[in-house]
Amino acid sequence: MVSIDVMGGSTEIGGNKILVEHKGTRILLDFGMSFNQNSKYFSEFLNPRKCTALTDYMEMGLLPDIKGIYREDYLNHMGRPPEERAVDAVFLSHAHADHAQYIHFLRFDIPIYCTVETYIILQCLENVGISTNSDLTSACETFVFYENNKGNPSRVTRKNIEYVHERDFHIMEPEQRMQIGSLEIEMLPVDHSLPGACGYIIYSDEGNIVYTGDIRFHGYNRDKSERFVEKAARCRPKWLLCEGTRIDSNEMNSEQCVKDEIERIVASSKELVFVEHPARDLYRVKSIFDAVKAAGREFIVGLKLAYLIESFGDLAPFSIDDVKILVPMKRWGLLCKNGIEQSQVERDYSVWERDFIFRDNSITYEELKKYPQRYVVSMNMWEINQLIDIRPHNAVWIKSSCEPFSDEMDIDEERKKNWLEHFGIQLFNAHASGHASGDEIRDMIAKIAPEHVIPIHTEHPEMFK
Ligand SMILES: [Zn+2]
Ligand SMILES: [Zn+2]
Repeated sequence: MVSIDVMGGSTEIGGNKILVEHKGTRILLDFGMSFNQNSKYFSEFLNPRKCTALTDYMEMGLLPDIKGIYREDYLNHMGRPPEERAVDAVFLSHAHADHAQYIHFLRFDIPIYCTVETYIILQCLENVGISTNSDLTSACETFVFYENNKGNPSRVTRKNIEYVHERDFHIMEPEQRMQIGSLEIEMLPVDHSLPGACGYIIYSDEGNIVYTGDIRFHGYNRDKSERFVEKAARCRPKWLLCEGTRIDSNEMNSEQCVKDEIERIVASSKELVFVEHPARDLYRVKSIFDAVKAAGREFIVGLKLAYLIESFGDLAPFSIDDVKILVPMKRWGLLCKNGIEQSQVERDYSVWERDFIFRDNSITYEELKKYPQRYVVSMNMWEINQLIDIRPHNAVWIKSSCEPFSDEMDIDEERKKNWLEHFGIQLFNAHASGHASGDEIRDMIAKIAPEHVIPIHTEHPEMFK
């Protein structure tokens, strides 16, 4: 008997956690964070407590209470007796938080399978320290003491490298198959708004399962999604775990249209242009880069994006040397002060940022003030206070990201508009979704023709009927 337990993501967008079980073999498809469930009880200033390990997460329905999957340091801290490992592997569809973030809570010895791009993004998230639950590719034992050189107990941190464990990651190649117990799992890349997204086919002697992950057909990797559908159809699946983010929408806008629109806006502006885009969508970044080039300007990226592009190496859409890097003032703001020692300037920045401060292609706000017509700047709400240094005139802001879908995002959006108004900046939009439209989903289901459809990653499972 094949059993499919959708523990997260069945009536909401994201939080995917699917347990597949067959003849004693158990695998997880994704282990993501549910934004819905989280924002139902928590907010920026009210978070699940670290000190209770898993308790707050389980009590408020953020994590399922099942045995044999969670990290031993957390279980021990909760006073739960040790558990045997009860899952054979995790397969990640991509590195978006709603699919991958909660691997932080998993045992260190569970093998995790994903694409090379997913692995790189998770590593960047961990190194840049973007969230509290960031034990993604490696994990540091928590709630344990070591004996310091005075013979007293000290709390373990990441500096105690003997307590830091590399997770058991395995990189999968396109169309590679992995045998895990009684199941065989094939990885197939798909088009989505993040590099390295994939779907999976799970073969068993009692019927095959297809998992779409997050998928679309209007980006630069459309052919990959089509290949996925073709192979999925060929395996005559019994079950299709199908994403339905936009099952109720037929709006169509392609990534190519976004590029053309940005190019048009940049070309018609004579002053500085800012573009707000999803932080790790390197396809969107490529669209912006190409549009900026075509409009005869230079693209400027922030530190986090610079770090991501450099980490991608040959897999990145362009080299970090092809753009300029905007270094913002931080902490004491010594960057633009004269006669300050380099080591003191560096102390204003995190270790990973220091490598970017003094490069030949690094610039500060002063360059933007001098030559606003030369550049297009990658910018987001969390760095918008740099406008106070840049003091733009008649500038343009292109919002190239999705519309707000929560109360908190609505408030941020209002706040952003206040900033733009204060500096007299004109707002434009240019965006395409990361998800297939309703018609494309129906078309995909018709082509794959499974015996059963299991809707996932959707607020409208009833529309799948
Ligand atoms: Zn998702
Ligand atoms: Zn996604």
